[in-house]
Amino acid sequence: MTLQSIMDEVRNLPGTGEVIAVIDPATEEQITEFTDGGAKAVEEAVSRARESFEAGVWHGLPGSERAKILWRAADLIDEYATEIAQLDSINTGMPFVQAHSIVGTSAEFFRYYGGWCTKVNGIAHDVHMTGGITGAHSNMHGYTLKEPVGVVGLIFPWNGPIFNACAKLAPALAAGCSVIVKPAEETPLSALLLVKLLAQAGVPDGVVNLVNGYGHTAGAALSEHPDVDKIAFTGSTEVGKKIVQVASGNLKKVMLELGGKSPVLIYDDADLNTAILSAAMGIFVHSGQGCISGSRIFVQRGVYDQVVEGIAAIANSLKLGGPKDEGVHIGPLISQKQLTRVMGFVEEGKRDGVEVVAGGSRIDRPGYFVHPTVLTDVRPDMRLYQQEIFGPVVPIMPFDDDDQVVAMANDTTYGLAATAWTSDVGRAHRLAKRLDAGTVTLNCQMVFDHAMPFGGYKQSGWGYEHGREGIEGYMKTKSVYTQI
Ligand code: NAD
Repeated sequence: MTLQSIMDEVRNLPGTGEVIAVIDPATEEQITEFTDGGAKAVEEAVSRARESFEAGVWHGLPGSERAKILWRAADLIDEYATEIAQLDSINTGMPFVQAHSIVGTSAEFFRYYGGWCTKVNGIAHDVHMTGGITGAHSNMHGYTLKEPVGVVGLIFPWNGPIFNACAKLAPALAAGCSVIVKPAEETPLSALLLVKLLAQAGVPDGVVNLVNGYGHTAGAALSEHPDVDKIAFTGSTEVGKKIVQVASGNLKKVMLELGGKSPVLIYDDADLNTAILSAAMGIFVHSGQGCISGSRIFVQRGVYDQVVEGIAAIANSLKLGGPKDEGVHIGPLISQKQLTRVMGFVEEGKRDGVEVVAGGSRIDRPGYFVHPTVLTDVRPDMRLYQQEIFGPVVPIMPFDDDDQVVAMANDTTYGLAATAWTSDVGRAHRLAKRLDAGTVTLNCQMVFDHAMPFGGYKQSGWGYEHGREGIEGYMKTKSVYTQI
């Protein structure tokens, strides 16, 4: 499988809707194109998934067999790491080295969840009730069964195509589900290669089905389909709410990993060099298009000027460019739409009196590049303080004490992640309890582990990915009573 063969194959995927151009965001040139699969492709994919599920070709296998296939998939992803990284870097604009390291992390999802195939079991219960409608319950035994939830639609965004695909596919398959994969319309390439690798690893026909297309066509059709048992979605909070509405038709289960506006707290007793570098890279890496990007920075007043200067200096030193340029730290935004959106926030901020300490403009070259941008004099009522920008733009605000900064940090509808930098260990752990976020990092930032649950508080999501919670999200629990 070569890069060119994937580009050609995506062009020939069945579809009946609009032809969608796949763009290299570093050059604005078209890489390939495909046809929106729309509701028809969804219908066919759901029917194949249902058939495979009812036939038990996958969940009927012993867990140890499913595990071997998932481990083989991990090895194949590693084997094709260069090709996958090339596809994701040309398709998202991220530096190749970064894309390559993400492939390794993504393969690990299959190793990690392969291990769970033999370890998610129900439990035995003693039955204590001594009376009831049907009379006395004596000599009874109870136990639970863990069963796959069924046919699941996996919908995810463009910001880390292979990562987002593997984070959902690995636990869904480990649980025994049959799936329909709907990648973002901007980034259809690596998902196609992944689906082929899963088939090569031994996942039976009909268990993994790919549908490409726009969100409002293919994504919406999948979300409202009456024969889909669950939607696992990663994307914006706005779309997450739409999915909840249409999913209510058959009351399908919904798992949501949504947006964030994650606060980073830097105290005056922190290791400032490390905090400044991590906070800067925590927003600028991948041009701020990470769900857990630290997109609001709060600095204790005594070191405020020093931290602002430090982060601005890093912003000014970063080299932007495409995957083919030398020595690049960060790439472009994904699309013209995102560029317009990000610059809209910056221009509005300027009009509202925000001070631009670094960046504040797009780069004068082809591609959707925005200078890493540092803003001060930002007020909490501003849109750029409250809303997810998803670009390399960060407001930095001063604070005086714990109560004040906790109130400011929690003053948003999001609750995905939060970070605190302080050498006071007690304070760090008190903050971990008080910060309203599904993930809190103390004296470190942008960390993740396959075994640690990941989910959003407030409007950042429902349910969890990763860890034991990740596979349990794709299972249901049955209670069995038996007379003995
Ligand atoms: P998006 O919500 O616009 O799109 C995400 C996916 O949903 C795409 O595949 C899209 O085609 C599909 N979609 C769009 N409209 C749909 C609809 N009506 N019905 C069904 N599917 C639909 O998000 P985006 O702009 O592509 O991605 C950025 C967002 O993703 C940010 O908000 C970011 O924070 C979030 N994100 C969250 C996490 C997390 O784990 N919490 C991880 C990565 C990205």
